Amino acid sequence: MSGSVRSGDDRMFEFRQEQADDGPPADGVAFTVLSVDDDPAFQQSLRMALSDFRFNDSPLRLLTASSSSEAQEVMVAHPDVSAILLDVVMESDDAGLQLVRAVREQLGNAEVRIVLITGQPGMAPMRKTLQQLDVSDYWLKTDLYRERLQGIVTGSLRTWSEIHALARAKRGLQHIVQMGNRLTGQRDLDGFSRQLLHELATLLEMPADGLVCVREDGNGTPPEGVRVIAADGAFATQQGRWLADVDDAMARDLLAEAFATRASVGMPACQMLYLDGDGRVPPLVAYLASERSLDAEEHELLQVFTAHANASLVNVDLTSRLDRVAYRDSLLDIPNGNALRLELQQVLEQPWPSGQSLLVVDLGQYTDGSLALGPEQGDLLLQRMAERLGQLYPPPCRVARLHEGTFAVLGPTTWLALDPVSALEQSEDTGELPFLRVDAARVDLDHYRGGAGGAVAAGLLLVNRIRADGGHGVADYRAEGEQENLQRFLQSRALYRALREDRIGVALQAQVDMDSGAVVGAEVLARWNENGQPVSPAEFIPVAEASGLIVPLGQRVIELTCDALRALEAAGFPEVPLSVNVSPLQLHRREFIDELAATLEKQGIEPRRMELEITEGAVMNDYQAGRELLARLRRLGFGIAVDDFGTGYSSLRYVHSLPVTRLKLDRHFTSEIGEARGESSVADMILALGRRLGLDVVAEGVETREQANWLREHDCPCAQGYLFARPEPLEDFIARMRRQRTGDG
Ligand code: C2E
Ligand code: CA
Ligand code: CA
Repeated sequence: MSGSVRSGDDRMFEFRQEQADDGPPADGVAFTVLSVDDDPAFQQSLRMALSDFRFNDSPLRLLTASSSSEAQEVMVAHPDVSAILLDVVMESDDAGLQLVRAVREQLGNAEVRIVLITGQPGMAPMRKTLQQLDVSDYWLKTDLYRERLQGIVTGSLRTWSEIHALARAKRGLQHIVQMGNRLTGQRDLDGFSRQLLHELATLLEMPADGLVCVREDGNGTPPEGVRVIAADGAFATQQGRWLADVDDAMARDLLAEAFATRASVGMPACQMLYLDGDGRVPPLVAYLASERSLDAEEHELLQVFTAHANASLVNVDLTSRLDRVAYRDSLLDIPNGNALRLELQQVLEQPWPSGQSLLVVDLGQYTDGSLALGPEQGDLLLQRMAERLGQLYPPPCRVARLHEGTFAVLGPTTWLALDPVSALEQSEDTGELPFLRVDAARVDLDHYRGGAGGAVAAGLLLVNRIRADGGHGVADYRAEGEQENLQRFLQSRALYRALREDRIGVALQAQVDMDSGAVVGAEVLARWNENGQPVSPAEFIPVAEASGLIVPLGQRVIELTCDALRALEAAGFPEVPLSVNVSPLQLHRREFIDELAATLEKQGIEPRRMELEITEGAVMNDYQAGRELLARLRRLGFGIAVDDFGTGYSSLRYVHSLPVTRLKLDRHFTSEIGEARGESSVADMILALGRRLGLDVVAEGVETREQANWLREHDCPCAQGYLFARPEPLEDFIARMRRQRTGDG
């Protein structure tokens, strides 16, 4: 016989049933009746009378006991006895009643039906007693002819079936409610699946021999794309396999069918649950091997179970995804900054001293994966870094990725005493991607006062400080200067976001030929608006330099400069060069030249159209290396201007030997024009120097006519300043060029 029970959504549940709805008890064996009588002859006749008895097509299992104590033992061994035919008078007049009390009150069996039988008419117990003990019937042996006996047994079994089903349903529903909480409490799909299997087995009172599969890839035909994510009992070894590789052929086929038909397939030898995930979560099927089929009540329970489990599945998926997004690094599959800060907070809330430290480790050469290395190389480097850190600082230390090439380790101070810089840089493994440069900072949490975010910030700042100071290695946190550091850190974070969200722009400031008054070029200046307010570069450039963000920022400005050059070309001004500021930190990255050349190449820009403005310090700190760097840039065709010229102590002495093309007279000296009357003003000297070395000179910060006139008189070829033009958007600059052209024409 086959039937199906359908749930609300119609596909969730379907089963094939082998038996009629009110079939035999759950263990698959016929109903069990216990006859208790000290008269062997009566036992014998009872057996005869019931020999052809059937209830719901099943024969009866008849157990016998000849005393009250023996009967108690049988009841303990067989709690599934459905009915007791009990002789009232045995070893004592009330031995039967005592047994009833023991069954109901001591064994707590309220389900078993009890029929009292006596040979002596006067021995009937009080009706009230019978009611209290829930005794169904009372009969005289002499009245028990075959048909009546069979009728009595049938009635008892039917009542027992109902009571038993109700009791089981009640237990099952209680279980389901608790199960829902336990399932929803799981953090991820794996935990959920293990728990699901366990709950299903408990509900059906079966051993947990089974597995749970999920459809990882919805494209193939199941079993393709279906994976075992939980397995237990006899199936434990199947964990992690593709369904196609599962040893048990029946489980494999039925599971595949369940995924294909999107329904639970119920068979006598197994139970299956199809959880459809409400279309939000990939479907999941639980398979439990069983030796029996389920009855109608169990099927109904299973439906309720399925609905609950499905709701839990959707919840768990949601929370676990949130968890992953919020607390895991998606690339490296290790904890992220949020997770670390949570753990850090817990450590900071522990009683003092915690004996824990925080280590921030930064991979200098990464800085920005998309710039420094190709994306794959960058990812590879990060993966290796995560691996090596995990080896250097094994559990209980916890390794997390904060951002980009920056990692953090939280663990016992003694463990973190190991120097990560030398350990990583001197790594034996000199594969394709060595760790060229690692810097680190340690924050002993017992010497730190503040929250988790601050501790991480302190570590990050220390690392950046090492870089900014031109150092290298590991720094240890000291409490001084913390406030100021934090302020800068917060700003660097805002800048980081702005970069991420592509909210950094540029303005162009015209440079004017002093003879003709024509605009002959422009300087590109970074612009950043935060909350609608422009932030001055004088403020954010130093922050960017201290935090290392100047590297991606500078790259962005270079890209925008290329865009501007293309726009100028399109507007008919292919000969107008643009100057772009390059910070020392940018310049000294070994990838700088290659990246720069690649960017221009990609955008189809000739290097001669771009001038790089560098500060004197950038070259003078390491004169030899700086000189070679500039020479390479010159050979590529870039113009090179020395920015803020005259403010560095050594410039006047060394500039003659540097391969530069232009000097930018610092604004400060321009402002002195008109004040200093003497022949030997700095501006004058610099102009003379430029002439002698054959270098172009551009005067910055020209605000007055007077300054402009003086510069013209002293043969300054070029100038830039508010007098001529303020930094302006690209469109305005192009419009200025157009006006100039029509004015000329
Ligand atoms: P800088 O390279 O010396 O740029 C010239 C600065 O002087 C600009 O300030 C410009 O607006 C300002 N200026 C121009 N004409 C006059 C004038 O007549 N009078 C006065 N008082 N100021 C004038 P800004 O845009 O605020 O930039 C400040 C500094 O920030 C720049 O000085 C430069 O060092 C840095 N910076 C700006 N953009 C970038 C960039 O993309 N990369 C790097 N590394 N640094 C940049
Ligand atoms: Ca400049
Ligand atoms: Ca300047």
